[in-house]
Amino acid sequence: SKPIVAVVGRPNVGKSTFFNKIVGRRVSIVEDTPGVTRDRIYAEAEWQGHHFALIDTGGIEPDTTDVILSQMRIQAEIAMDTADVILFMVDGKDGLTSSDREVASMLMRTGKEVILIVNKVDSSKLPEDFYDFYELGLGEPIAISAVNMLNLGDVLELIIEKL
Ligand code: GDP
Ligand code: MG
Repeated sequence: SKPIVAVVGRPNVGKSTFFNKIVGRRVSIVEDTPGVTRDRIYAEAEWQGHHFALIDTGGIEPDTTDVILSQMRIQAEIAMDTADVILFMVDGKDGLTSSDREVASMLMRTGKEVILIVNKVDSSKLPEDFYDFYELGLGEPIAISAVNMLNLGDVLELIIEKL
């Protein structure tokens, strides 16, 4: 069976946008309103002859009492359990948040391969607070723009390395 790559991170960081660009079709719904993807969404992806299954999730908001957010979190946890590689997406416009820190420590405990992706870096200039993301302890963050399709090849390259 194909290796599984799951995209996790807070709602609204751009997971579904990224997922659709990688899959090459509009499978997942992109919304300005956080919390649209409540279920896990699967699609087959291919890069330079390497095949894998990509899972989009609704996102993780740690320590929430909101019913929808906690359902989304359960879906994300199932995706993380299933995954061979986890893409942890954060938002380069928002900068590092306390939720990102909490998700990062959850991810460390999984012991799985994690790739840290900073989305919404829409130009070649890195935001001033970009280096804060190193504090997550998940290695070198990769700046991408899912909307502008910047550096998606770098992410695919890293996925293939870790499969
Ligand atoms: P999700 O909740 O993590 O799946 O996020 P979505 O993919 O639904 O995107 C949430 C919002 O962020 C939408 O308004 C997207 O258009 C926007 N977005 C996604 N990727 C980028 C990006 O690379 N740059 C910018 N500026 N906005 C983005
Ligand atoms: Mg989504």
